[in-house]
Amino acid sequence: MVDASLLNADSNVTYDVIVIGAGVIGPAVATGLARKGKKVLIVERNWSMPDRIVGELLQPGGVRALRSLGMAQAINGIDAYPVTGYTVFYDGEQVDIPYPYKSDVAPVEKLKDLVKDGNDKVLDDSTLSTRDYEEDERERGVAFVHGKFLNNLRRIVGEERTVTRLQGNCVQILKNELNEVVGAKVDVEGRGKVDFKAHLTVVCDGIFSRFRKELDSQHIPSAGSSFVGMSLMNAKNPVPMHGHVILGRSHMPILVYQISPQETRILCAYNSPKLPSNVKAWLIKDVQPFLPKSLRPSFDDALLDGKFRSMPNSYLPAKQNDITGLCVVGDALNMRHPLTGGGMTVGLNDVVLLVKKIGDLDFSDRETVLEELLGYHYERKSYDSVLNVLSIALYSLFAADSDNLKKLQRGCFKYFQRGGDCVSVPVAFLSGLLPKPLLLTRVFSAVALYAVYLNIEERGFLGLPMALLEGITILFTAAKVFTPFLYREICG
Ligand SMILES: Cc1cc2nc3c(=O)[nH]c(=O)nc-3n(C[C@H](O)[C@H](O)[C@H](O)COP(=O)(O)OP(=O)(O)OC[C@H]3O[C@@H](n4cnc5c(N)ncnc54)[C@H](O)[C@@H]3O)c2cc1C
Repeated sequence: MVDASLLNADSNVTYDVIVIGAGVIGPAVATGLARKGKKVLIVERNWSMPDRIVGELLQPGGVRALRSLGMAQAINGIDAYPVTGYTVFYDGEQVDIPYPYKSDVAPVEKLKDLVKDGNDKVLDDSTLSTRDYEEDERERGVAFVHGKFLNNLRRIVGEERTVTRLQGNCVQILKNELNEVVGAKVDVEGRGKVDFKAHLTVVCDGIFSRFRKELDSQHIPSAGSSFVGMSLMNAKNPVPMHGHVILGRSHMPILVYQISPQETRILCAYNSPKLPSNVKAWLIKDVQPFLPKSLRPSFDDALLDGKFRSMPNSYLPAKQNDITGLCVVGDALNMRHPLTGGGMTVGLNDVVLLVKKIGDLDFSDRETVLEELLGYHYERKSYDSVLNVLSIALYSLFAADSDNLKKLQRGCFKYFQRGGDCVSVPVAFLSGLLPKPLLLTRVFSAVALYAVYLNIEERGFLGLPMALLEGITILFTAAKVFTPFLYREICG
């Protein structure tokens, strides 16, 4: 039975903003703009807690964005689990990669009107401690059950006085005779299809977005791989409070991270959006043998339970918001490989920038809002391109299916093993704390050269001519998995 207050939004007023979708990004947009005094309608087709295996590890850059928005407590009271870094396993060896020092990163920006009464601080609860988040010398991320996090975000947006929540399926973006967006048509239980008007319509309808094509009919994601996910109950994680990335020459990457005191998520990459016909047999053959020993009992239990779910891994470079009255944010706008857990971090930082750019404008002045949105597209690039390109490049290496990629994969792991900047800089990219695409290019080139060097070393003196030849092809392969994506992100 749907709460009646979710069905009675007024269709006779013109809202400042209609937000379509209350996933991760919609509530952040709606809360931010409401705190700037805007009258907001947020439409979600189902306000009850979703059960999905997406968006469970929030990088430090995402936690910082929540702080900037005054929504830090969205990670409280949900048995969330702190994340202090990663451990990468490669054919029996491992390297720990802690998150960066706070002293190496700029202080968190507190957005005017949004941050108040300590809402930028993580509170003490049964699993998180204020001291760890506020006083630890290093940045922290956090992992959680996705639906519980969403419930918190939705509760926070519901507490805003100028926000109206509506349950309904948005079926159409409304346009005037000039092709400008003027609102949304929503199918509401008991009311049928109702038109709601707004100066600005913000589309946050997520990975399977129906309305991203309003920006451009060619704004379509591509999916080259998928993740098969399972819950490991009471797993003995090799390194507590770390995300685990399990790599190897003869298998696809496996991610393992704890999302609550009892539950650990395992995501196993499969190099096609279409799953193998017998998923269980594939898990037994291509995943189980490569897991650290301590995870085996919980993995075997999960296999017996047989509850696996899968999601396609999509890629979608952003497109400029260039239509009057329309703004697309979150996965509807831009997607990257989930291997690096960057999606929510990108989306939440986009919201911070969006609120900064347009939050203080009068939304009835649609031309000025549009001008700011045109600029927003370019300003978001330095942050987003790093996380997006990193995810695609690392996936290519970690899921290596050719000799050259396998050499790059090994080079990457050995590069991490060198420690110092070889670890601290890459993890700063991954955490969403170093938005420098040119530096990313330099680091990726250094990894490629290191892979070439290791190959020369391995071939020895007699194999030098062959190693030099291979070196050229390794560098060519590295350029192929990196440059086109960087180009699309920066120049698109
Ligand atoms: C397998 C996988 C694992 C991932 N893991 C991570 C991770 O660990 N860390 C990370 O940061 N990111 C991760 N991501 C990415 C992350 O999940 C997304 O970036 C994030 O969820 C995007 O938020 P969003 O609000 O744009 O979309 P969503 O969270 O998908 O929300 C969209 C919302 O819109 C609603 N909606 C859709 N259509 C309509 C409509 N017509 N009318 C009304 N409502 C509608 C939906 O019900 C939904 O609530 C992962 C992605 C995948 C595929």
